[in-house]
Amino acid sequence: MKNLVVGAGLTGAVIAERIASKLDEEVVVIDKASHIGGMHYDYIDKESGILVQPRHANFLHTNNKFIWDYLSKFTKLQPLTFRPLVQIQGINATLPLCLLTLHEVFPEDFAKMLENKLIAKFGYNKKITLAEMNRNFDEDLKFLSEYFYENVFKPYTVKQWGIDENSIPPCADTYYPFDISLDDRYFKEKYQAVPACGWTNMIENILRHKNIKLKLNTDFSEINPRKYDRIFFTGSIDEYFDYKHGELPYRSVRVEIDEKLTDLNGQTFNYPYNYDFIRANVFKNILPNAIYSTNKNIVGFEYIEQFELGKNERFYPINNSDSQEIYEKYVEESKVLHNIYFAGRLGEFKYYESDELVTRAFETVARLMIDNNEEFSKDEEEINQEVQTEVENSSNE
Ligand SMILES: Cc1cc2nc3c(=O)[nH]c(=O)nc-3n(C[C@H](O)[C@H](O)[C@H](O)COP(=O)(O)OP(=O)(O)OC[C@H]3O[C@@H](n4cnc5c(N)ncnc54)[C@H](O)[C@@H]3O)c2cc1C
Repeated sequence: MKNLVVGAGLTGAVIAERIASKLDEEVVVIDKASHIGGMHYDYIDKESGILVQPRHANFLHTNNKFIWDYLSKFTKLQPLTFRPLVQIQGINATLPLCLLTLHEVFPEDFAKMLENKLIAKFGYNKKITLAEMNRNFDEDLKFLSEYFYENVFKPYTVKQWGIDENSIPPCADTYYPFDISLDDRYFKEKYQAVPACGWTNMIENILRHKNIKLKLNTDFSEINPRKYDRIFFTGSIDEYFDYKHGELPYRSVRVEIDEKLTDLNGQTFNYPYNYDFIRANVFKNILPNAIYSTNKNIVGFEYIEQFELGKNERFYPINNSDSQEIYEKYVEESKVLHNIYFAGRLGEFKYYESDELVTRAFETVARLMIDNNEEFSKDEEEINQEVQTEVENSSNE
């Protein structure tokens, strides 16, 4: 069987590796970019040794040991804790919003009073939403929920999604979380890391297999698909169908790299308002214990904009009822095609975290192996069960 994988991002790389090693079949991987890695693309700055993530800062966070073990075969995973900050009224405060945030943004006595009320009402170590806080009869807690709604949730949502503030649900319906704890970790999963030599290096190692051939600077439109028995498409599904049912909407991000010395002392800063950029990633502070040879600082400022074909890149899928309707039409079209599989963030028009992508790539190849046995009499549930068993078996290898 001849396999073509379109896209050398994490999804494409894991699918290719699974086919190459589990099925022992040949795989050609193409990418229209001049480098591998897709959204995970990063590089090490030669002068300073700093790992720069020019698309976005990407952290592995998972409770799934199988993901950790699988990726560890291709890289040393550098454990870390992600502690971003959010600027509220000029103060860089802890994100996730938690008891620490209260003490950073309010005078001590007032913060203590709010903390006591939250613990008395909901209990320590509970995660609540701004809506739950707001629907309370207590005027102070109502004030607190409105404060975070007005200073964090509302302006951030407007900036991130480019929507009118009048279309944002009121505070009493807002599911934005607040942690009644002192836990300042943004991600709570057991395993958290960044590949020590970068995601691109890890993806390069995943693709290093005798059955895998990589072609960069190659767009799918330049390829004769008839030469392949199976195609795994990790580009945008609307593009594959030449946008016949309309374009799927995305938000895009423009990153401006600043190499001047700055005093930003943290990993990632979020700016709900006040600036045109929405986030700043301070790359030298991302990897813990990294010792760099110079004082150089490299900061990536993220500007959010609407995706426009030919102008910028697709980042966040905008999932709403209109876009879902368009997506479903493409899914229907894809059902009549044979041996074409749409996968990943763009192929499935869905925001996936990295660990979910790896699991889904495993599932795609497991399903293929089951289909290969041509037992079409099985129902969907039976097949899903077999896929899970196959993924579990693979993870124990
Ligand atoms: C801003 C942002 C922050 C994120 N942060 C995190 C995080 O902290 N932790 C986490 O776990 N996940 C995070 N994610 C999610 C994760 O980074 C993405 O879901 C993941 O990178 C998607 O991988 P992918 O391989 O599916 O797609 P991509 O990485 O987009 O790869 C697709 C590849 O296909 C290629 N391609 C597309 N069309 C064609 C074509 N026609 N011909 C040839 N090649 C083509 C592209 O060039 C690209 O290389 C984040 C995502 C975003 C957008």
